[in-house]
Amino acid sequence: MPHEVRGVVARSKGAPVAVETIQVPDPGPGEVVVDVQACGVCHTDLHYREGAINDEFPFLLGHEAAGTVSQVGAGVSNVNEGDFVILNWRAVCGQCRSCLRGRPQYCFETHNAHQKMTLDGVELTAALGIGAFAEKTLVAAGQATKVDDSAEPEIAGLIGCGVMAGLGAAMNTGGVTRGDSVAVWGCGGVGDAAIEGSRIAGAHTIIAIDLDDRKLKWAKDFGATHVINSAGMSTDQVVEAVQALTGGNGVDIAIEAVGSPAAYEQAFYARDLAGTVVLVGVPNPEMRIDLPMIEVFGRGGSLKSSWYGDCLPTRDFPMLIDLHLQGRLQLDRFVSEKIGIEDVEAAFHKMEQGEVLRSVVMI
Ligand SMILES: [Zn+2]
Ligand SMILES: [Zn+2]
Repeated sequence: MPHEVRGVVARSKGAPVAVETIQVPDPGPGEVVVDVQACGVCHTDLHYREGAINDEFPFLLGHEAAGTVSQVGAGVSNVNEGDFVILNWRAVCGQCRSCLRGRPQYCFETHNAHQKMTLDGVELTAALGIGAFAEKTLVAAGQATKVDDSAEPEIAGLIGCGVMAGLGAAMNTGGVTRGDSVAVWGCGGVGDAAIEGSRIAGAHTIIAIDLDDRKLKWAKDFGATHVINSAGMSTDQVVEAVQALTGGNGVDIAIEAVGSPAAYEQAFYARDLAGTVVLVGVPNPEMRIDLPMIEVFGRGGSLKSSWYGDCLPTRDFPMLIDLHLQGRLQLDRFVSEKIGIEDVEAAFHKMEQGEVLRSVVMI
């Protein structure tokens, strides 16, 4: 029997989102239905509503979620009914050229559910193949990763997107380790997660850079050892400030969590020789960077991009939840407020104003 449940839908470009009654089918082969307990509000949800990702309206929003598996389809073996799971948008295929080379964290053919959820007979496009601002959602079984059920759902769900992107930018893509120096541009949810990831990986210097003192305060709370308010500063001034905090050398790993040419340029020049730049902020299609090629060569090291923190959900999600439950990973600090399913539109406005790290919908 298909289920009728409430879900947050964006019907047309730019229009406010609304809670609608949607239809969720029973799971087919390889699919599961999850009773969502909590789902964080992410910038990507807003980008869907604005038509900035594609125009396949109506969208069922929400993708940063945790909940309990309520039904499993035929052939599902990785989870059972009743399992507490975090949803992910990297259900690896095992068969693409990246998986076959032993690099499933970059899987190029990730799975989603085959069936669609619907609104009055119209197929919904689920945000990032998840659609979790809803009482139930249908996903591919590989999109559900079982974790320790003693974690709070509002905290566990954050691992499913933005916090994983930031932690992974530091721990996976940047390879931060003991004794490294790190600088992070942009201290919202992703940047603060990069700071947290750097801290638990053993970085000895963590420099937070932002234009907003409130965000720099958050960064300090997560473990930034130094902060730079770069408002009104030139690239050279920011680079000099980073160098002054690192013995005149620059940082080993420069993490750009803004997605802007200015921040990227600062990150490029503020790293030490043979250092690494990690881009995890999402640029828009018009943005360009202009760097002297001799500097790209002469400084050595590497310029990397981080997709979803280069995470492998089956490897990383249970490990990060365990670190949190041991008190070693501060995930609770990311939850600025818990809200109802009716409050997503208001949460978008708070996010745009930079007032919150994460609003989490409790369902
Ligand atoms: Zn693959
Ligand atoms: Zn997201």
